[in-house]
Amino acid sequence: MPEPTVVAVPEPSDAAAPSPQPAGPPAIRCESLVKRFGTFAAVDGLSLEVPQGAFYAFLGPNGAGKSTTIAMLTGIYGADAGRVEVLGKDLQRDPLGVKASIGVVFEELALFERLTGMQYLVFCGRMYGLKGAEATRRAQELLELVELSFKSDELIADYSKGMRRKLAIAAALIHAPQLIFLDEPFEGIDVLASAVIRELLKELKRNGTTIFMTTHVLEIAEKLATHIGVIVAGKMRASGPVRELQTEHGAHTLEGLFQTLVGAPKAAGVRLSFYG
Ligand code: ADP
Ligand code: MG
Repeated sequence: MPEPTVVAVPEPSDAAAPSPQPAGPPAIRCESLVKRFGTFAAVDGLSLEVPQGAFYAFLGPNGAGKSTTIAMLTGIYGADAGRVEVLGKDLQRDPLGVKASIGVVFEELALFERLTGMQYLVFCGRMYGLKGAEATRRAQELLELVELSFKSDELIADYSKGMRRKLAIAAALIHAPQLIFLDEPFEGIDVLASAVIRELLKELKRNGTTIFMTTHVLEIAEKLATHIGVIVAGKMRASGPVRELQTEHGAHTLEGLFQTLVGAPKAAGVRLSFYG
């Protein structure tokens, strides 16, 4: 009897939607970026391009240089070498123009503890030039969307980690940026907050917002990402549309692709000498 043919059935995934057709300049383009801390190069000659409308998952082991890269792409850190263009603007020449058109949620959140959630969102909206009434309207809508309306008049000091993360994401969206950066948005929060954030990301993807997200939750990247980049020790291993990279590296899943690029974990056959 002939061997049955095994056909890999891809998981149903939102990433199955066709790759967005870029209109205009890329959302992000950087070339040969370098960031040194002393003599150590945390980011070492990194180049990448993200088309507008893409959901780019930036993956890599701890300490690979993901957060440092985000800090350079958003103008928090100056790069020691290389250049960055965001939405067609040169970051060095027009840092304010770039900052006005992006939203950023850092891994370590710095919120104003003595403001209420509502006050914080209105403050952020006003910083981006919204009129008071419009900032309030958007703040209410965002609080509703991230299921924080019931906390809107309480001090941020009393928010849980998941609530803070949702509030920080809401704040990053108040000026309707075309591009949003999220550094480990699912880190250290409960499943309910994760689900809310995941739904919000789906909505942003649907409305054409470009998303640049670091995560080590591969399942989420697998479901949402149209493009990925894999960074190891400050250098880009691969970057491009998920499907192209999977075909190129003969991997059926994102996890398989990640392991091909980063190296498989040595989990099999682990044993402790002092246990039985
Ligand atoms: P990732 O976000 O991928 O986990 P990071 O970008 O935070 O990695 O860090 C990359 C490397 O740079 C790590 O080895 C980290 O210890 C180092 N690093 C990050 N920030 C600093 C800093 N401010 N000073 C010195 N070393 C740093
Ligand atoms: Mg990090």
